[in-house]
Amino acid sequence: MRALAWHGKHDVRVDTVDDPEIINPRDAIIKITSTAICGSDLHLYDGYIPTMQAGDILGHENMGEVVEVGPKSTLKKGDRVVVPFTIACGSCFHCGKQQYAACDNGNPADNQDIGETLYGQPMAGLFGYSHLTGGYAGGQAEYLRVPFSDVGPIVIPDGIPDDDVLFLSDVLPTGWMAAENAQIEPGDTVAVLGCGPVGLFAVQSAFLLGAERVIAVDHFPHRLELAKKFGAETINYEHSKVHDALIEMTGGIGPDAVIDCVGLEAHGFFLDNVIDQIKKSLYLGTDRTHSIRQAIVACRKGGRVSMPAVYGGIVDKFPLGAFMEKGLTLKTGQTNVQRYLPALLAAIIDGKIDTTFLISHRMSLEDAPAGYKLFHDHQNETTKIVLKPGMAKMKEHAA
Ligand SMILES: [Zn+2]
Ligand SMILES: [Zn+2]
Repeated sequence: MRALAWHGKHDVRVDTVDDPEIINPRDAIIKITSTAICGSDLHLYDGYIPTMQAGDILGHENMGEVVEVGPKSTLKKGDRVVVPFTIACGSCFHCGKQQYAACDNGNPADNQDIGETLYGQPMAGLFGYSHLTGGYAGGQAEYLRVPFSDVGPIVIPDGIPDDDVLFLSDVLPTGWMAAENAQIEPGDTVAVLGCGPVGLFAVQSAFLLGAERVIAVDHFPHRLELAKKFGAETINYEHSKVHDALIEMTGGIGPDAVIDCVGLEAHGFFLDNVIDQIKKSLYLGTDRTHSIRQAIVACRKGGRVSMPAVYGGIVDKFPLGAFMEKGLTLKTGQTNVQRYLPALLAAIIDGKIDTTFLISHRMSLEDAPAGYKLFHDHQNETTKIVLKPGMAKMKEHAA
């Protein structure tokens, strides 16, 4: 089959590789119909994530049609499914608490040591995201092996286009869980720092969960326009001081909840990388790398901070004093995707959540290297690239 493989920093290629096969009884193989490039794929592209190996197939936002099933899969050939980016067994202690992103069995044992050393416990398995998270092949390919296919994938009813449901794989449930973690009460004002895909879904979710006002912060004008479409007020941090603006817009109190959807611009799992990032942040002086500090300082006393943004290592100058003295609550974590899928699919079908607005580009799999470059170089216009392996290669993207 053809698949988008990582070969090094800024070097991804479409290679011909072996087709995936059923390995375990609970596996299924799907033929990919749509797969998106994620902002976090750019961290792989930029070479920030350790334990990548040349030839690793990328892609964790996947959907497709079931073409083969193991004897213990509950899927049927021909089912259309969206696959969560987190790989969860459904039966361990954490899965029993619906904390699927903390599954103890998704990441094969030989890969668990690094996570255990860094974090105290091993990390979960993810598709297409380095050997630290299991070394699983991703779905930016013609076919994908889905482990624990009786637990993860959600079957999509006929007649619903891929574009409507693809983001159930990651960014929609991530934005939703971010808003849920903000523990929104009716009438609340919620600030969302960062209006990438997760931030934009957090804006929609915050309103659905009862926020009266949402204030979206970014510097890309196009993203702020999208946030406005969903009813958010906006702050462009290149034009205003975010803290002052948030305080002023909330009558001197501060937002009831702040959702940090930015994270470290270039996150990594090793200390030297983190120190490097801290150094960079000192010189850059932008808001991007300071988003969690900003969230804590801007939030009202007694408020809540939610952090879907990814942080990898140790963060310097965490305002622990402000956090304690203001009596804040902080909730965070990788997304427990499986837990939210039925309700979010229903919300899409009922028209309560709009997902297709996000797609700025549709490309063939063969165009994926050009797609990575475009996404990397032009983040304002490139809100989301969806790869369609069935689509013909288009010359205009090749430049
Ligand atoms: Zn993603
Ligand atoms: Zn589990």
